[in-house]
Amino acid sequence: MPLGEFDIIARYFSRATGRKDVLLGVGDDAALLLPPPGQALVAATDTLVEGRHFLPGTPAAAIGHQALAVNLSDLAAMGAEPAWALLSLSLPAPDERWLEDFARGLYTLAEAHGVALVGGDTVSGPRVITIEVLGFVPPGAALKRSGARPGDVVYVSGTPGEAAAGLELLESGAATFDSSDRRVRRFLQGEPRLQLGRALRGLATSAMDVSDGLLGDLRKLAGASGVGVRLELERLPIAPVLAAHYARPQCERYVLHGGDDYELLFTVPPAQADALDAIARDTGIAVHAIGTVEPGSGVQCMRAGRLETDTGRGYDHFAG
Ligand code: ADP
Ligand code: MG
Repeated sequence: MPLGEFDIIARYFSRATGRKDVLLGVGDDAALLLPPPGQALVAATDTLVEGRHFLPGTPAAAIGHQALAVNLSDLAAMGAEPAWALLSLSLPAPDERWLEDFARGLYTLAEAHGVALVGGDTVSGPRVITIEVLGFVPPGAALKRSGARPGDVVYVSGTPGEAAAGLELLESGAATFDSSDRRVRRFLQGEPRLQLGRALRGLATSAMDVSDGLLGDLRKLAGASGVGVRLELERLPIAPVLAAHYARPQCERYVLHGGDDYELLFTVPPAQADALDAIARDTGIAVHAIGTVEPGSGVQCMRAGRLETDTGRGYDHFAG
Protein backbone atom coordinates (compact mmCIF):
# COMPACT_ATOMS: atom_id res chain seq x y z
CA MET A 1 0.00 0.00 0.00
CA PRO A 2 1.41 3.42 -0.89
CA LEU A 3 2.33 5.76 1.92
CA GLY A 4 -0.39 8.20 2.92
CA GLU A 5 0.13 11.81 3.94
CA PHE A 6 0.10 10.99 7.65
CA ASP A 7 2.52 8.09 7.27
CA ILE A 8 4.91 10.39 5.45
CA ILE A 9 4.76 13.02 8.19
CA ALA A 10 5.07 10.47 10.97
CA ARG A 11 7.85 8.50 9.36
CA TYR A 12 10.06 11.21 7.90
CA PHE A 13 9.31 14.59 9.44
CA SER A 14 8.59 14.01 13.11
CA ARG A 15 12.04 13.87 14.67
CA ALA A 16 12.30 15.15 18.23
CA THR A 17 13.46 18.74 18.14
CA GLY A 18 15.60 19.03 21.25
CA ARG A 19 14.69 22.70 21.56
CA LYS A 20 13.04 23.93 24.75
CA ASP A 21 11.44 26.83 22.89
CA VAL A 22 9.30 24.40 20.87
CA LEU A 23 6.27 23.96 23.11
CA LEU A 24 4.47 21.97 20.42
CA GLY A 25 5.99 20.76 17.16
CA VAL A 26 4.76 18.53 14.35
CA GLY A 27 1.46 16.80 15.03
CA ASP A 28 -1.08 19.38 16.11
CA ASP A 29 -2.88 21.96 14.03
CA ALA A 30 -0.03 24.41 14.42
CA ALA A 31 3.28 24.70 16.20
CA LEU A 32 3.62 26.60 19.48
CA LEU A 33 6.90 28.45 19.73
CA LEU A 34 8.36 30.59 22.47
CA PRO A 35 10.55 33.39 21.09
CA PRO A 36 13.16 34.78 23.50
CA PRO A 37 11.97 37.99 25.13
CA GLY A 38 13.29 41.18 23.63
CA GLN A 39 14.44 39.63 20.37
CA ALA A 40 13.05 40.39 16.94
CA LEU A 41 11.62 37.43 15.07
CA VAL A 42 13.23 37.06 11.64
CA ALA A 43 11.27 35.18 8.97
CA ALA A 44 12.22 34.08 5.47
CA THR A 45 10.80 31.64 2.95
CA ASP A 46 11.99 30.24 -0.37
CA THR A 47 10.50 27.81 -2.84
CA LEU A 48 12.32 25.32 -5.05
CA VAL A 49 10.50 24.08 -8.16
CA GLU A 50 11.76 21.03 -10.00
CA GLY A 51 13.09 21.96 -13.43
CA ARG A 52 13.47 25.57 -12.41
CA HIS A 53 15.47 25.62 -9.16
CA PHE A 54 16.84 22.12 -9.30
CA LEU A 55 17.52 19.76 -12.16
CA PRO A 56 15.35 16.67 -12.56
CA GLY A 57 17.40 13.77 -11.23
CA THR A 58 19.04 15.82 -8.47
CA PRO A 59 19.66 13.50 -5.50
CA ALA A 60 16.94 14.02 -2.91
CA ALA A 61 19.46 14.58 -0.12
CA ALA A 62 20.92 17.51 -2.04
CA ILE A 63 17.44 18.97 -2.57
CA GLY A 64 16.70 18.69 1.14
CA HIS A 65 19.97 20.43 1.92
CA GLN A 66 19.47 23.16 -0.68
CA ALA A 67 15.87 23.91 0.27
CA LEU A 68 16.95 24.70 3.82
CA ALA A 69 20.31 26.24 2.91
CA VAL A 70 18.79 28.98 0.72
CA ASN A 71 16.61 29.98 3.65
CA LEU A 72 19.39 29.83 6.24
CA SER A 73 21.47 31.99 3.93
CA ASP A 74 18.80 34.67 4.11
CA LEU A 75 18.95 34.55 7.90
CA ALA A 76 22.75 34.67 7.79
CA ALA A 77 22.48 37.83 5.69
CA MET A 78 20.32 39.40 8.42
CA GLY A 79 22.82 38.51 11.15
CA ALA A 80 20.14 36.28 12.67
CA GLU A 81 20.31 33.06 14.62
CA PRO A 82 18.01 30.41 13.09
CA ALA A 83 15.67 28.43 15.32
CA TRP A 84 12.66 26.88 13.58
CA ALA A 85 11.61 25.72 10.13
CA LEU A 86 8.36 24.76 8.39
CA LEU A 87 8.30 22.55 5.31
CA SER A 88 5.66 22.48 2.59
CA LEU A 89 6.18 19.51 0.36
CA SER A 90 4.37 18.85 -2.91
CA LEU A 91 5.31 15.49 -4.40
CA PRO A 92 4.09 13.56 -7.44
CA ALA A 93 4.27 10.23 -5.58
CA PRO A 94 5.22 9.03 -2.09
CA ASP A 95 8.59 7.56 -3.05
CA GLU A 96 10.06 6.13 0.16
CA ARG A 97 13.64 6.17 -1.00
CA TRP A 98 13.32 9.79 -2.14
CA LEU A 99 11.66 10.86 1.11
CA GLU A 100 14.27 9.17 3.24
CA ASP A 101 17.13 10.81 1.37
CA PHE A 102 15.40 14.20 1.29
CA ALA A 103 14.73 14.09 5.04
CA ARG A 104 18.33 13.10 5.72
CA GLY A 105 19.69 16.02 3.68
CA LEU A 106 17.33 18.42 5.39
CA TYR A 107 17.83 17.21 8.95
CA THR A 108 21.62 16.98 8.63
CA LEU A 109 21.85 20.68 7.85
CA ALA A 110 19.09 21.59 10.32
CA GLU A 111 20.73 19.75 13.19
CA ALA A 112 24.14 21.21 12.36
CA HIS A 113 22.65 24.64 13.05
CA GLY A 114 20.29 23.70 15.86
CA VAL A 115 17.21 24.27 13.73
CA ALA A 116 13.99 22.41 14.63
CA LEU A 117 11.46 21.35 11.99
CA VAL A 118 8.21 22.27 13.70
CA GLY A 119 5.54 21.87 11.03
CA GLY A 120 4.58 21.97 7.42
CA ASP A 121 2.21 20.64 4.84
CA THR A 122 2.28 17.59 2.58
CA VAL A 123 0.35 17.44 -0.66
CA SER A 124 0.49 15.62 -3.98
CA GLY A 125 1.37 17.60 -7.07
CA PRO A 126 4.44 18.61 -9.05
CA ARG A 127 7.69 18.40 -7.08
CA VAL A 128 7.85 21.74 -5.23
CA ILE A 129 9.52 22.38 -1.88
CA THR A 130 8.87 25.45 0.21
CA ILE A 131 10.64 26.05 3.49
CA GLU A 132 10.11 28.87 5.91
CA VAL A 133 12.71 29.58 8.55
CA LEU A 134 12.32 31.63 11.69
CA GLY A 135 15.09 33.00 13.83
CA PHE A 136 16.06 35.81 16.16
CA VAL A 137 18.15 38.90 16.21
CA PRO A 138 18.27 41.70 18.77
CA PRO A 139 16.26 44.55 17.27
CA GLY A 140 18.67 47.14 15.95
CA ALA A 141 21.41 44.57 15.37
CA ALA A 142 19.88 43.13 12.21
CA LEU A 143 21.96 43.54 9.08
CA LYS A 144 20.02 45.25 6.35
CA ARG A 145 20.72 46.12 2.74
CA SER A 146 20.14 49.77 3.35
CA GLY A 147 22.96 50.96 5.61
CA ALA A 148 25.96 51.33 3.27
CA ARG A 149 27.58 54.79 3.46
CA PRO A 150 30.13 56.51 1.21
CA GLY A 151 33.61 55.57 2.37
CA ASP A 152 32.63 52.04 3.44
CA VAL A 153 34.55 49.15 1.98
CA VAL A 154 32.62 46.46 0.06
CA TYR A 155 33.45 42.86 0.93
CA VAL A 156 32.43 39.44 -0.28
CA SER A 157 33.01 36.25 1.70
CA GLY A 158 34.65 33.11 0.35
CA THR A 159 34.92 32.39 -3.34
CA PRO A 160 31.64 32.97 -5.18
CA GLY A 161 31.18 31.52 -8.66
CA GLU A 162 32.12 27.93 -7.93
CA ALA A 163 28.52 26.78 -7.58
CA ALA A 164 27.51 28.35 -10.91
CA ALA A 165 30.35 26.50 -12.58
CA GLY A 166 29.17 23.30 -10.86
CA LEU A 167 25.62 23.81 -12.10
CA GLU A 168 26.95 24.18 -15.65
CA LEU A 169 28.96 20.99 -15.36
CA LEU A 170 25.81 19.15 -14.31
CA GLU A 171 23.63 20.74 -16.98
CA SER A 172 26.06 19.98 -19.75
CA GLY A 173 26.54 16.41 -18.59
CA ALA A 174 30.26 17.03 -18.02
CA ALA A 175 29.81 15.94 -14.40
CA THR A 176 27.39 13.71 -12.54
CA PHE A 177 25.63 14.47 -9.27
CA ASP A 178 28.01 12.24 -7.32
CA SER A 179 31.08 14.01 -8.69
CA SER A 180 33.64 15.00 -6.07
CA ASP A 181 34.60 18.07 -8.11
CA ARG A 182 34.60 21.06 -5.78
CA ARG A 183 32.38 23.05 -8.14
CA VAL A 184 29.68 20.37 -8.05
CA ARG A 185 29.94 19.95 -4.27
CA ARG A 186 29.67 23.70 -3.78
CA PHE A 187 26.51 23.75 -5.88
CA LEU A 188 24.84 20.79 -4.20
CA GLN A 189 26.11 21.20 -0.65
CA GLY A 190 26.95 24.84 -0.12
CA GLU A 191 27.20 26.06 3.47
CA PRO A 192 25.20 29.11 4.52
CA ARG A 193 27.41 31.66 6.30
CA LEU A 194 25.47 31.85 9.55
CA GLN A 195 28.44 32.28 11.84
CA LEU A 196 29.88 35.07 9.73
CA GLY A 197 26.53 36.84 9.51
CA ARG A 198 26.16 36.88 13.29
CA ALA A 199 29.74 38.04 13.76
CA LEU A 200 29.09 40.99 11.46
CA ARG A 201 26.42 42.43 13.77
CA GLY A 202 27.41 45.90 14.85
CA LEU A 203 30.25 45.91 12.32
CA ALA A 204 28.74 45.70 8.84
CA THR A 205 26.71 48.72 7.79
CA SER A 206 24.82 46.63 5.22
CA ALA A 207 24.68 43.00 4.11
CA MET A 208 22.91 40.58 1.82
CA ASP A 209 23.55 37.09 0.54
CA VAL A 210 24.63 36.53 -3.04
CA SER A 211 21.82 34.62 -4.67
CA ASP A 212 21.37 36.13 -8.12
CA GLY A 213 24.99 36.95 -8.87
CA LEU A 214 27.38 39.32 -7.16
CA LEU A 215 26.99 42.17 -9.64
CA GLY A 216 23.19 42.19 -9.69
CA ASP A 217 23.01 41.78 -5.94
CA LEU A 218 25.50 44.58 -5.41
CA ARG A 219 23.24 46.82 -7.53
CA LYS A 220 20.36 45.93 -5.22
CA LEU A 221 22.43 46.74 -2.15
CA ALA A 222 23.55 50.06 -3.63
CA GLY A 223 19.96 50.88 -4.55
CA ALA A 224 18.65 50.00 -1.10
CA SER A 225 21.33 52.17 0.52
CA GLY A 226 20.97 55.07 -1.92
CA VAL A 227 24.67 54.99 -2.78
CA GLY A 228 26.97 54.05 -5.62
CA VAL A 229 29.62 51.32 -5.59
CA ARG A 230 32.98 51.23 -7.30
CA LEU A 231 33.79 47.59 -7.93
CA GLU A 232 37.42 46.70 -8.64
CA LEU A 233 37.30 43.74 -11.02
CA GLU A 234 40.93 42.86 -10.39
CA ARG A 235 40.16 42.32 -6.73
CA LEU A 236 37.45 39.72 -7.28
CA PRO A 237 38.41 36.52 -5.48
CA ILE A 238 38.88 33.74 -8.02
CA ALA A 239 38.64 30.26 -6.55
CA PRO A 240 41.63 28.03 -7.37
CA VAL A 241 39.33 25.50 -9.02
CA LEU A 242 38.03 28.21 -11.36
CA ALA A 243 41.49 29.57 -12.14
CA ALA A 244 42.59 26.02 -12.95
CA HIS A 245 39.82 25.41 -15.47
CA TYR A 246 38.92 28.70 -17.13
CA ALA A 247 40.49 31.81 -18.56
CA ARG A 248 40.20 34.98 -16.45
CA PRO A 249 37.20 36.48 -18.31
CA GLN A 250 35.16 33.33 -17.79
CA CYS A 251 36.20 33.18 -14.12
CA GLU A 252 34.99 36.74 -13.70
CA ARG A 253 31.68 35.93 -15.34
CA TYR A 254 31.11 33.10 -12.89
CA VAL A 255 31.96 35.36 -9.96
CA LEU A 256 29.88 38.30 -11.18
CA HIS A 257 26.82 36.44 -12.41
CA GLY A 258 26.72 33.12 -10.56
CA GLY A 259 24.50 32.45 -7.55
CA ASP A 260 23.99 29.53 -5.17
CA ASP A 261 27.24 29.84 -3.22
CA TYR A 262 25.55 31.39 -0.17
CA GLU A 263 28.34 33.93 0.16
CA LEU A 264 27.70 37.24 1.92
CA LEU A 265 28.14 40.65 0.38
CA PHE A 266 28.57 43.42 2.95
CA THR A 267 30.00 46.83 3.69
CA VAL A 268 32.24 47.84 6.60
CA PRO A 269 33.69 51.24 7.50
CA PRO A 270 37.46 51.29 6.85
CA ALA A 271 38.17 51.94 10.54
CA GLN A 272 36.80 48.47 11.30
CA ALA A 273 39.19 46.59 9.01
CA ASP A 274 41.11 45.04 11.91
CA ALA A 275 37.95 43.89 13.64
CA LEU A 276 36.87 42.27 10.39
CA ASP A 277 40.23 40.51 10.02
CA ALA A 278 39.74 39.06 13.49
CA ILE A 279 36.29 37.78 12.51
CA ALA A 280 37.66 36.16 9.37
CA ARG A 281 40.31 34.45 11.50
CA ASP A 282 37.81 33.29 14.13
CA THR A 283 35.27 31.96 11.65
CA GLY A 284 37.82 30.58 9.19
CA ILE A 285 35.90 32.30 6.40
CA ALA A 286 37.98 34.49 4.14
CA VAL A 287 36.62 37.93 3.28
CA HIS A 288 37.76 39.98 0.31
CA ALA A 289 37.61 43.75 -0.17
CA ILE A 290 36.31 44.22 -3.69
CA GLY A 291 35.30 47.85 -3.85
CA THR A 292 34.20 51.02 -2.15
CA VAL A 293 30.94 52.81 -1.49
CA GLU A 294 30.65 56.24 -3.06
CA PRO A 295 28.05 58.95 -3.36
CA GLY A 296 25.81 58.46 -6.37
CA SER A 297 24.03 55.37 -7.61
CA GLY A 298 24.63 52.10 -9.41
CA VAL A 299 27.75 49.95 -9.66
CA GLN A 300 30.77 51.04 -11.64
CA CYS A 301 33.11 48.24 -12.64
CA MET A 302 36.72 49.39 -12.69
CA ARG A 303 39.77 47.70 -14.17
CA ALA A 304 43.23 49.23 -13.80
CA GLY A 305 41.64 52.50 -12.75
CA ARG A 306 39.38 52.69 -15.81
CA LEU A 307 35.68 52.19 -16.16
CA GLU A 308 34.86 48.88 -17.80
CA THR A 309 31.63 48.82 -19.77
CA ASP A 310 31.53 45.16 -20.80
CA THR A 311 31.02 43.10 -17.69
CA GLY A 312 29.92 40.14 -19.74
CA ARG A 313 26.21 39.69 -19.82
CA GLY A 314 27.10 37.35 -22.67
CA TYR A 315 26.71 34.42 -20.41
CA ASP A 316 23.47 32.82 -21.41
CA HIS A 317 22.61 30.80 -18.40
CA PHE A 318 22.29 33.86 -16.21
CA ALA A 319 20.83 36.22 -18.78
CA GLY A 320 17.26 35.02 -18.52
P1 ADP B 1 -3.86 20.26 9.19
O1 ADP B 1 -4.77 19.54 8.25
O2 ADP B 1 -4.42 20.54 10.53
O3 ADP B 1 -3.18 21.43 8.55
P2 ADP B 1 -1.84 18.46 8.48
O4 ADP B 1 -2.41 17.11 8.31
O5 ADP B 1 -1.58 19.26 7.25
O6 ADP B 1 -2.71 19.23 9.52
O7 ADP B 1 -0.49 18.33 9.28
C1 ADP B 1 -0.44 17.61 10.48
C2 ADP B 1 0.78 18.03 11.24
O8 ADP B 1 1.93 17.66 10.53
C3 ADP B 1 0.89 19.53 11.46
O9 ADP B 1 1.51 19.72 12.72
C4 ADP B 1 1.78 19.97 10.35
O10 ADP B 1 2.48 21.15 10.71
C5 ADP B 1 2.71 18.79 10.23
N1 ADP B 1 3.26 18.58 8.88
C6 ADP B 1 2.58 18.31 7.75
N2 ADP B 1 3.41 18.11 6.71
C7 ADP B 1 4.67 18.30 7.19
C8 ADP B 1 5.97 18.25 6.63
N3 ADP B 1 6.17 17.98 5.34
N4 ADP B 1 7.01 18.49 7.44
C9 ADP B 1 6.84 18.78 8.74
N5 ADP B 1 5.65 18.82 9.35
C10 ADP B 1 4.57 18.59 8.57
MG1 MG C 1 -2.21 21.21 6.70
